[in-house]
Amino acid sequence: MKSHTKYLTFTVPKRMDLIHITPQVQEAVSESGVQEGLCLVNSMHITSSVFINDNESGLHEDYKRWLEELAPHEPTSQYHHNRTGEDNGDAHLKRQIMGREVVVAITKGRLDLGTWERIFYGEFDGRRPKRVLIKIIGE
Ligand code: ZN
Repeated sequence: MKSHTKYLTFTVPKRMDLIHITPQVQEAVSESGVQEGLCLVNSMHITSSVFINDNESGLHEDYKRWLEELAPHEPTSQYHHNRTGEDNGDAHLKRQIMGREVVVAITKGRLDLGTWERIFYGEFDGRRPKRVLIKIIGE
C-alpha cells in the first residue's frame, strides 16, 4: 500500500471566506501515484472547515449569510467562549456545522467526485496561517 501526506497552508485575508481547493487536492493525488484508494482532507484548526458542495458563487454568498445568521460574529460578548479573551466564539460554531473533513474515493488516479461536487476550505477566523491535511492511501 502506498501513502502520501501533504499539508496546505491558507492565510485568508478576511475573517470568513470559502476557498475552492479541488485542484490542490487532485495535485496531491497525482503526486501520490495512487490509482485506487482513498483521500482524506481535513482542517487542522477548530475554527475552519473542509466540505464538499457546488462551486457556485451565489451559493457561497448564501452560506456566508446563513452562517452569520446562525452565529453572528457581533456582539462578541454574546459568547461564553469569548470570556477567555478570544473573539472567535462564532467561528467555532460555524466550523462545527460546516464539518471538519471529507473523504473522497480515488479511481484511476483521479478524485471520484460527483458531477457538481467540489472540495472547499471554509475559513471562519482568518487573517493568520492555517493548515489543511491531505492523507492519501491506496495502491
Ligand atoms: Zn476560540
